[in-house]
Amino acid sequence: MYRRSILLVAMLSTMLLQAQCDAHAQKLVNTYRQIKACKHNTIFWSDGSKMLYDDGKKETFEKILTQADIEDMFTHSYRNGRYNKPSKNYDPGRYRNDAFFRKMYGNSAHAVKKHLTTINWLGQKIQVTTVNHVHKQLQKVARELAKYPKLRKYLAPIGGTFKWRKIAGTNRLSVHSYGAAIDIRVKYSAYWRWSKGGYKYRNQIPLQIVKIFEKYGFIWGGKWYHYDTMHFEYRPELL
Ligand SMILES: [Zn+2]
Repeated sequence: MYRRSILLVAMLSTMLLQAQCDAHAQKLVNTYRQIKACKHNTIFWSDGSKMLYDDGKKETFEKILTQADIEDMFTHSYRNGRYNKPSKNYDPGRYRNDAFFRKMYGNSAHAVKKHLTTINWLGQKIQVTTVNHVHKQLQKVARELAKYPKLRKYLAPIGGTFKWRKIAGTNRLSVHSYGAAIDIRVKYSAYWRWSKGGYKYRNQIPLQIVKIFEKYGFIWGGKWYHYDTMHFEYRPELL
């Protein structure tokens, strides 16, 4: 019994020693105005609230997907620009800490809606959040994409923006719940759950579209092993 508790103390202290603010935490501080600092493994928000940065646990794929802490959101690095066919379970940006996003964008559909505004997406009116100036960034994406008429068929009509909902097959909230994501046209898109006859990576979205989104702070779901090629979300901390 005694030996077991020594072991437990040793394990816990190793976990806590490893847990600390790192370069990724600093990236969050530099990227988001609502985050003032990371000190002693704690994220300090500008309204005075605090969150644990790293719980010290290194989880399996399924667990990390449902129980990600803030540090876990950086588990896989997102590569800008080029296409890279993702290796098994490589999902850069797909691990999200729900509490972090709720704090940032709103803790309920009602709270998120208070921050929504309408922008013009290639002639279509769409709703996005003003938090972090996501609306301005997405408007810049639209303006730049509109310069290339041959890209239009992939972009409009959109699949959707704001919707308070869970990710299909999970209990986690989608980034669409926060008004910080857009699905472009569904017709030319591929989604891993639609894959018939076993898993196969598919994509038709031109890289030019992906690069324009990335330029303004959005990551693409087509870089995930669990691919969702219509999906873009505002995650400048990963770029
Ligand atoms: Zn989506």
